[in-house]
Amino acid sequence: MIDYHLHTTRCCHATGTPAEYLEEAEKKGLVEIGFADHYPLGLLDFEPRNQVTMKPGELQEYMEQVKALQDQSQSVKVKLGIEVDYIPGTEGKLKKLLEESAFDYVIGSIHFLDDWDFTHPFYMEDYKNLDLEQLYRRYYELVGKVCQCGLFDIIGHIDVVKKFGYRPAGNLDAIRLETARLLRETDTCLELNTAGRDAPVGEFYPDREFLAMCCSEGVAITLGSDAHAPEQVGRYFPEALELLRKTGYRELTVFEGRVKSKQPF
Ligand code: ZN
Ligand code: FE
Ligand code: FE
Ligand code: ZN
Repeated sequence: MIDYHLHTTRCCHATGTPAEYLEEAEKKGLVEIGFADHYPLGLLDFEPRNQVTMKPGELQEYMEQVKALQDQSQSVKVKLGIEVDYIPGTEGKLKKLLEESAFDYVIGSIHFLDDWDFTHPFYMEDYKNLDLEQLYRRYYELVGKVCQCGLFDIIGHIDVVKKFGYRPAGNLDAIRLETARLLRETDTCLELNTAGRDAPVGEFYPDREFLAMCCSEGVAITLGSDAHAPEQVGRYFPEALELLRKTGYRELTVFEGRVKSKQPF
């Protein structure tokens, strides 16, 4: 089992040391983990109302800390990833910035619509005043851009807009199928992110139908717990692997220096 979505305390909403995450991974028998903490939004000149990423000055020590753990770790392979917010208009800047850092993989995630952090419980009331149909359409437009901008290896928690359980009445199949095809065309990996199970929505990102669409379109997959605490490493993985297998997946994608390969499971 491989967990490619672990955080550190630098994002201001996680607990535990990276060594404790590794320890938990060993305990659960994982063969590989990857840290993917929140990339400093300050470097993209984006200032959220609430601090949710590491500060620009912390990026170097984050990388060094993960590299040090990589050297120490015996049984579990450790990778250096990053989770970057997709903020429209920052592509050029981000491209240059990412060239400066030797990540194994880059997860592109959407947490913001304009300055609204729609994944943050502080602001969940805002859903009540919105046309959900329009909101989802807008969200998936951004997902399309994450794929097409060519900066990201993996799309993080692809349907996180459902996090607090607000869903439009209409059917989303057309938009999801279009998204699945776009992932394939742009060679972007889908992430099965198990954190959604512990969110109000109570299900993985994405749900099994969306996952099945991606599988039949030939989209590659990674697995991540989005752990913000050591005990969350590998959460619900036995169930996630069974779901992947039932869906038709037989391989997880692994990365080294942003080059991908397949690992059968
Ligand atoms: Zn986080
Ligand atoms: Fe995220
Ligand atoms: Fe995350
Ligand atoms: Zn995340």
